[in-house]
Amino acid sequence: SGVTDAPRGRVLLARPRGYCAGVDRAVQTVEHALEHYGAPVYVRKQIVHNLHVVRALEARGAIFVEENDEVPEGSIVVFSAHGVAPEVHAQAAERGLKTIDATCPLVTKVHHEVRRFAEAGYDILLIGHDGHEEVVGTSGEAPERVTLVDGPDDVANVVVRDPAKVVWLSQTTLSVDETMQTVNALRERFPLLQSPPSDDICYATQNRQAAVKTIAPQVELFLVVGSANSSNSVRMVEVAASCGAGAAHLVENAAAIDESWLDGVRTIGLSSGASVPEILVREVVQWLDEHGFGDVQEVSHTEERLTFALPRELRRELQAKP
Ligand code: SF4
Repeated sequence: SGVTDAPRGRVLLARPRGYCAGVDRAVQTVEHALEHYGAPVYVRKQIVHNLHVVRALEARGAIFVEENDEVPEGSIVVFSAHGVAPEVHAQAAERGLKTIDATCPLVTKVHHEVRRFAEAGYDILLIGHDGHEEVVGTSGEAPERVTLVDGPDDVANVVVRDPAKVVWLSQTTLSVDETMQTVNALRERFPLLQSPPSDDICYATQNRQAAVKTIAPQVELFLVVGSANSSNSVRMVEVAASCGAGAAHLVENAAAIDESWLDGVRTIGLSSGASVPEILVREVVQWLDEHGFGDVQEVSHTEERLTFALPRELRRELQAKP
């Protein structure tokens, strides 16, 4: 249908894009668990926020549930990359579930920070999106000490016990720029506000946004491949739109692209969220090629080499039995 005779324009493909170390580890965790224990393997919540990944694992025998009480007693349950509150571990123990925790180590780091500051008597202002699974898990480390701050507009509502003992922490997948606006607004209200010991917004989120930023001013259209419930993917669309792309859209896959978006477009930016398998990007590249955008140039911002070992409890099992 949309096949044209003459090339219409080019594609700037962002790098890094797609899988981060935490997602790669979480998906591999479920795959190894399926191989080792056999189906079914239960997974609490979407292992990572991507529909394609979830369906592919379901086809291999993973069963996704919302809560531990849907898992038959004595079964294996994998906790997702976004992390869980301590009470979720406690519930699992009560039901006699065998747990494998695929929480990203960079989320676990923020959990540790919450515990440490709570024990030291701080009020913790957790910048993040209300209701996101990661925020639910992180807050659960010290519910009575954590106040959620969902963007700059939320700052006026914050109440603390002692303005001399406040620290801000954050969700790992926020917009870097918007978070700094929120922090600045918080600091106006609480001049003694402390910062996290190291960046809570993870390297993958930062690198993907930075790569989008370099390309956005050069394009009339920016496409980010990702699912609508993927925080880091949605942030990438916002960054593209605010950094000069003519239009920016989140697409689940190639089928979600609207041909009319290509009208008048010469250059398209393309990237994908941290939970998105590369196959989905290749399908978009293929679709764009069929629509006259066959000239693809990769624009590299940073090289990523980080990888994480599988969860310890799984590694032990894999070593014990061949
Ligand atoms: Fe970990 Fe960041 Fe990937 Fe989330 S986006 S899984 S925090 S590396």
